[in-house]
Amino acid sequence: MTVIYNSRICRLLPSWVAAITLAEWICIRGPSASNRLLRHEARHVKQWRWFGYVLFPVAYLVGWALAGFSYAGNWFERDARAHEQI
Ligand SMILES: [Zn+2]
Repeated sequence: MTVIYNSRICRLLPSWVAAITLAEWICIRGPSASNRLLRHEARHVKQWRWFGYVLFPVAYLVGWALAGFSYAGNWFERDARAHEQI
């Protein structure tokens, strides 16, 4: 798992996105991140590992659709939020 802060690519994220996880890489939009955000994104790394590079994006989209196209309601996001606290 690699955390990348404030790179040119990370700064392309929309302002409302603090971070994005792509497989083993956590891309943080700004120069720092809270431990809570890092734990959230680390959980997404585990989710990527469970499903693999091909299936995870599909599973994430299915979760999003099953949640009525809700980001917050997506099972993967709810699981990651549940792991934000130690
Ligand atoms: Zn998330």
